[in-house]
Amino acid sequence: MSSVMRPSTAGASSSAPVAHNAVPPPPTTSASRSSRIAPHSHIKGLGLNAEGYAVADSGGFVGQVAAREACGVVVDLVKSRKFSGRALLLVGPPGTGKTALALAISQELGAKVPFCPMVGSEVYSTEVKKTEVLAEAFRRAIGLRIKETKEVYEGEVTELTPTESENPLSGYGKTVSHVIVGLKTVRGTKQLRLDPSIYEAILKEKIQVGDVIYVEANTGAVKRVGRSDAYASSYDLESETYVPLPKGDVHKRKELVQDVTLGDLDAANARPQGGQDIMSVMGSLVKSGRTEITEKLRREVNRVVKGYVDQGVAEVVPGVVFIDEVHMLDIECFTYLNALLESPMAPTVVFATNRGNSIVRGTTDIAAPHGIPLDLLDRCLIVRATPYNKQEIAKVLQLRANVEGLQLGEGVLEQLAEKGVNSSLRYALQLLTPASILAGIAGRKEIQLEDVNEMGELFLDSKTSAAVIEARSKEAEA
Ligand code: ATP
Repeated sequence: MSSVMRPSTAGASSSAPVAHNAVPPPPTTSASRSSRIAPHSHIKGLGLNAEGYAVADSGGFVGQVAAREACGVVVDLVKSRKFSGRALLLVGPPGTGKTALALAISQELGAKVPFCPMVGSEVYSTEVKKTEVLAEAFRRAIGLRIKETKEVYEGEVTELTPTESENPLSGYGKTVSHVIVGLKTVRGTKQLRLDPSIYEAILKEKIQVGDVIYVEANTGAVKRVGRSDAYASSYDLESETYVPLPKGDVHKRKELVQDVTLGDLDAANARPQGGQDIMSVMGSLVKSGRTEITEKLRREVNRVVKGYVDQGVAEVVPGVVFIDEVHMLDIECFTYLNALLESPMAPTVVFATNRGNSIVRGTTDIAAPHGIPLDLLDRCLIVRATPYNKQEIAKVLQLRANVEGLQLGEGVLEQLAEKGVNSSLRYALQLLTPASILAGIAGRKEIQLEDVNEMGELFLDSKTSAAVIEARSKEAEA
């Protein structure tokens, strides 16, 4: 997709009239969201075969067979639109891959499907209403894939003639008044007279005679798609491959222009000063001075989005919203979630918790499994994630080491896996990077046992830390 966003195209179109279906700028991805997903970069999917059975160590997933297969069923239900109004609840101790499972579900739903993770306690802020935080997360989990169909001339450049004339304004110097581009297309040679502003794009793209270019029919924007030896085919921006050139010298080219979320559009329109391009796209929406995302603004964004969808310019891509530690939500949030689940544009909702029976927050006496009110629990499919054995922990550690390009010396994996069993997988994983820093300081590329042991002394696992405090308080009492 990056190829369609190259400045050359942007430069050319900025001087050309803005098409009514021009597109918004890149989404403002939240740094915190990407840092939450980073530890799962080895996860590529649920790793199931065509029959839905978990394949050993596939998709970056180790073990957790039953949960992966159950999530696969959820993916099928979502794809066949039989999951609306419902949610998936993943239950299991910390570090058993609940977040990884939710991410894998979004990956199985398709490429570029939005994944919006949050933690239940994030709703408690003095500035934003709890329900607003939830509403925003849901909007960030609904993607909008914007496509444009352009009519283009495509062919090999046979002539490139900038025509210079006196600049009447400055009184001296010359200026390009127009550019003639000769194009050898499949139908024969054609001469296009282009606007002088396009000359900049031609210079920027370093377009020369012999290049294969395309020229947009309505804006005149120019783009180089290859050298003349590629002329027998045409470069398809969506698949980023060469495809046979259609007959005729004008053809339609469908470009995948942008992936944004409804949350991005809401935010850009709520902060007009920060969203210049979106303003031009949705100019009718923006009223100056708007600083907060209101329900009214969301409805307006929805209306414009619906317009795009009806025109065939955009496609809605429902994603996955993941609420970890869902027991941290209170009764007001749970009530609101029931309503959000009912909304026709709801994403797939995945909750996770490690709690058993608890009092529902915001009430004094309503106890419920996982601290979730029964009416919401009733809508949930519950899947259990189970702790890993030492071998599985070692495999996950090795996967992470590979992804992070870390070399593990003799006995290191064994030692870390041992720590994982005694403490948690998360703790063992967290020791990897600091240990590699220690190795680096010692001038080694390979993490050795001494690095792991030193890290283990510097950073306590939760059980050891709690035991130290308990021992200290006993000492103080004695
Ligand atoms: P918490 O309840 O504390 O949020 P969690 O159950 O969501 O924990 P994750 O954050 O998904 O656990 O897992 C911790 C780390 O281990 C992540 O880097 C995750 O990608 C990795 N991981 C967990 N389970 C597996 C698995 N079965 N295969 C591969 N990697 C895994």
